[in-house]
Amino acid sequence: MTTLRFKMVEEAIKRKALEVKSPEALASEYFGIHVFNREKMAKYLPEETFRTLVDSVDKGTPLSREIADSVAQGMKKWALKLGVTHYTHWFQPLTGGTAEKHDAFVEMDGKGGMIEEFSGKLLIQQEPDASSFPNGGIRNTFEARGYSAWDATSPAFIVDTTLCIPTVFISYTGEALDYKVPLLKAEQAVNKAATGVCRLFDSGVSKVMSYLGWEQEYFLVDEGLWAARPDLMLTGRTLIGHESAKNQQLEDHYFGTIPTRVMAFMKDLECECLKLGIPVKTRHNEVAPNQFELAPIFERTNLANDHNQLLMVVMKKIARRHCFRLLLHEKPFKGINGSGKHCNWSLGTDTGINLLSPGKAPQENLQFVTFLVNVLMAVYKYNGLLKACISTATNAHRLGANEAPPAIISSFLGSQVSEVLDRIEKSDTEDVIRMDAKAGFHLNGITHIPELLIDNTDRNRTSPFAFTGNRFEFRAVGSSANCAKAMIVLNTAVAEQLTTFKKDVAHLMQQGKSKENAIYSVIKEYIRKSAPIRFDGNGYSEAWKKEAYERGLDCETSIPVILQQFIAPDVVKMFESQGVMTAKELEAREEVYVETYTKKLQIEGRVLGDLAINHIIPVASRYQNILLEKVGRMSMLFSSEKLHALARYDMEMIERLSTHISEIQNIVEQLSNARKKANKIRNEKEKAMAYHDTVLPLFDKIRYHIDKLELYIDDEMWPLPKYRELLFIR
Ligand code: ADP
Ligand code: MG
Repeated sequence: MTTLRFKMVEEAIKRKALEVKSPEALASEYFGIHVFNREKMAKYLPEETFRTLVDSVDKGTPLSREIADSVAQGMKKWALKLGVTHYTHWFQPLTGGTAEKHDAFVEMDGKGGMIEEFSGKLLIQQEPDASSFPNGGIRNTFEARGYSAWDATSPAFIVDTTLCIPTVFISYTGEALDYKVPLLKAEQAVNKAATGVCRLFDSGVSKVMSYLGWEQEYFLVDEGLWAARPDLMLTGRTLIGHESAKNQQLEDHYFGTIPTRVMAFMKDLECECLKLGIPVKTRHNEVAPNQFELAPIFERTNLANDHNQLLMVVMKKIARRHCFRLLLHEKPFKGINGSGKHCNWSLGTDTGINLLSPGKAPQENLQFVTFLVNVLMAVYKYNGLLKACISTATNAHRLGANEAPPAIISSFLGSQVSEVLDRIEKSDTEDVIRMDAKAGFHLNGITHIPELLIDNTDRNRTSPFAFTGNRFEFRAVGSSANCAKAMIVLNTAVAEQLTTFKKDVAHLMQQGKSKENAIYSVIKEYIRKSAPIRFDGNGYSEAWKKEAYERGLDCETSIPVILQQFIAPDVVKMFESQGVMTAKELEAREEVYVETYTKKLQIEGRVLGDLAINHIIPVASRYQNILLEKVGRMSMLFSSEKLHALARYDMEMIERLSTHISEIQNIVEQLSNARKKANKIRNEKEKAMAYHDTVLPLFDKIRYHIDKLELYIDDEMWPLPKYRELLFIR
């Protein structure tokens, strides 16, 4: 009866690492060979086209149809050489994944034959019939058209035999239906606002870029064992399963030797990534058994995000080659760490200055402090929204646990930076700022922010938004997320904050203050105002929850309620004022996220009901019968007194099994009723709240009883691969 589990365990144990041939060439030689990058552009495009395209990418100048035609010809020529037969517009709908529809490069030649064709028109724009993508009511079915349009700033690439063209995805009426449109707009907004602030310090700055370096965590599970777990297969996480006796308590997995089968997978994956121009750099075992991480070198945010989206697809594909299934769920297993995707974020100028890196000269440090404090202000003002942008049904399981970031957004700065801010706050502006005839401008107190910060600040793993020496690390982002969701919010909030800062400084200057004095005064004010967001203590402690509430930080834990942040009046105002999203687009997003939440719980509810009734209870009943039979037969041999002495344990076990079985049956019935009741609710927000309040709590109750049964029932009869098998076979 339990043949599948044991058959799969046997197969999994026998598997050998796949032999992966590393390319003969150096990584630097095959990096980007599948990307239509500048080098290929220069080779395959006429000079005039090349120059115009590069100009457009760097400065955002519009491209004419003739140029697009010329680019398309060059791209086609390059792609055909590499055996490519199809092309696709590659976009990022609100499902969170990527979408593609392939078309062959062929057209009829008018003489009954075919020719390879790819025009500028096809490169620039397509009209995917995309009525089945989530759109939050923006696109009614009668105007189901959506447009995808070429994003020339992210180079086209080849996957297998398909040329993929990164595109935005918008509705017939021009609203964003994807993550790329608002991300590009948020990058523009922060560029504009930050450049304005930079010019207070250096008139030579003409552009500010936002950078992203993500760290992707994931689990690997043997494919056969995965297939024997309906919950993993359908929901991405185990809904039941008793903890393994050995978990991560010995801390022997983190940074340990990478298992050979996994190493083969990693090599294979890295090679593929490098060919696709994803600058992968770091690999290691993570904290939980069978958990790993991959991190690249950081890039401009839009490109880095495209690379992460592409990576998530590629890594799943390559894992299958190695008979693994790769899990991106934020919490696939109870009792051990879940997976996140730390988003390292910074701002840098076209003059090569990292605005979040302490400088050497006082002037540079005033600029550094200016940006740091403005980021803190933005995070403080929009801490609720920042939480909303990482809140999903799946990430909720990770945030609730005492492992990586808690469900309250706060920022850790480390003692050195904190000290500098405290000193500035307490200082007297006139005292600190001195204009010296010889040396120019002086700053007492913040001249020395040690550069060693860059390598290692004191780390606080419990902080969801930590300053790490030359960047902020947003750690609350979930492993399966599209980073754009977080990057849109962060860049827009910072853009708005920097705009306000510039106005505040201008205002003081109009009153006759010197520029430095005005900047310093505003910073002082911001340090005071944003103080509640700074927290260097233990983010997991109960005391912090209480304190955070008193500080006025957002402490809400119900995801459907948290998601309402997207349509809060101040949030709508912020996005509209920065030209990133309209009220209509935000309403649509809120609706999509809320619906997705409900759907995930709906699916989990069904799977759990099925597991309980069709997989677990029949086995539990059979085992119970075995014991009943045994005790029954013993009763024919022994006196009642002796029977009670000899079969005490069995009789107690029969009672325990009966209790758990009937409890499971009762709660599954409650679950089904709660779901039916919630499904009748028409308002999506209320429905999601009903799922959160009445359906979700029953999951753990059912699990409790099933996990108990797992401990009691004959191991040979247990139908599903156990945690020790899922987590330690590799
Ligand atoms: P950690 O010690 O936090 O695990 P990792 O080495 O795994 O660090 O990842 C750090 C990530 O931060 C990398 O992707 C790296 O490229 C990125 N990073 C480094 N400097 C910056 C920066 N200035 N802006 C954005 N990302 C950065
Ligand atoms: Mg790391």
